[in-house]
Amino acid sequence: MSAENSKNTARSAQASLIQGLQRALQLDFFNDLFGGSEQVITPHRPPNRIDPANGVRKRQILIQDQVLDYELRRSKRRSIGFLIGDEGLRITAPRWVTVADIEQAIREKQHWIIAKLSEKREQNHRRKEATMRWEDGARLPYLGKHLTLHIREQSRASIYHDAEQDILTISIPPDSHEQQIKDRVKAWLQQEAKHLFNQRMPLFAQRLGVSYHSMSVSSAGTRWGSCTSQGKIRLNWRLIHFSIDIIDYVIAHELSHLREMNHSAKFWATVESIYPEYEHAKRKLRQHASAELPTF
Ligand SMILES: [Zn+2]
Repeated sequence: MSAENSKNTARSAQASLIQGLQRALQLDFFNDLFGGSEQVITPHRPPNRIDPANGVRKRQILIQDQVLDYELRRSKRRSIGFLIGDEGLRITAPRWVTVADIEQAIREKQHWIIAKLSEKREQNHRRKEATMRWEDGARLPYLGKHLTLHIREQSRASIYHDAEQDILTISIPPDSHEQQIKDRVKAWLQQEAKHLFNQRMPLFAQRLGVSYHSMSVSSAGTRWGSCTSQGKIRLNWRLIHFSIDIIDYVIAHELSHLREMNHSAKFWATVESIYPEYEHAKRKLRQHASAELPTF
C-alpha cells in the first residue's frame, strides 16, 4: 500500500465516520417525527421519599381540561421518561419519585405530550386510511395524488387511466378474486413507473453529463434505488405512488453515484448541481412511512 493509498484510506475512514454520525442524526430526526423518541426529566432525589406502588399502573391526570390517561412504570432509572407509543403516553419513573412529582413533571411536559399524542393519532388515522379496500371507489396513491378505482365486471379484462378525472377503470371478469384486481393494478403501476423513469433518467443524465449502462425497475422491500459502478441503475416501482419531485430526487441521487460512489459532501454537491431542490424532496421521502402505501 503506497503512502497515497493509506492517506486515502484514512480519509475515507474519516468520511465514513462522519457519514455514520450524520445518519445517526437523521435517524433521530425521523424517530422524533413519529413520536418514537423518549423525553426525560431528571428530578433531584430527595431523601427518603418513596411511593409504595410498584409495577405498571394505569393513571389519569387532568390537563388542559382533558383527562389524560397514562401508564406508569417504576424502574431503577434516575430520570422520568416520557414515551408516546401506539397505546398512548407511558411514563417510567424511579421508585422514589412521588405521584405528585410525576404529575408535576407531566404538567411541565404537557405541550410536548399533547403535540405528540395528536401526531400519533393522525399517523394512526393515515395508516388506517391507507389500508386499501380494493373495491369500487377505493383510492390509490399515484404521483402524489390519488386515483379513484372504478371496478367493472366485464368478460374481457382491461385497465384504463383517465388522467383528467384521476380515475382508473379496471374491467375484470365476473367473480374475480380481489387478488386479480391487485395484480392488474400492480402491473399497471409498474408499467407506468418504467415509462416515467425512462423519461426522467435521460434528462438528469444529460444535466450531469454522464451515461448509464441500464435502468431497471425493482421491487426491493426497503430500497428506493441503487447504482452499481458499472452504471446499472435500479429504481423501485413503488416510487410511482409519490410526487414527481421525489422521483426526480431519487433519480438525481442514483445518477450522482456515477460520479461519487459514496455519500460524501462532494456527492451531495453533485446531487444539488443537477437538482437544487433535492433537500426538500429528500425530507419528504423520509417522512413517507411505507405503512402508508397499499400492499399488493
Ligand atoms: Zn446513495
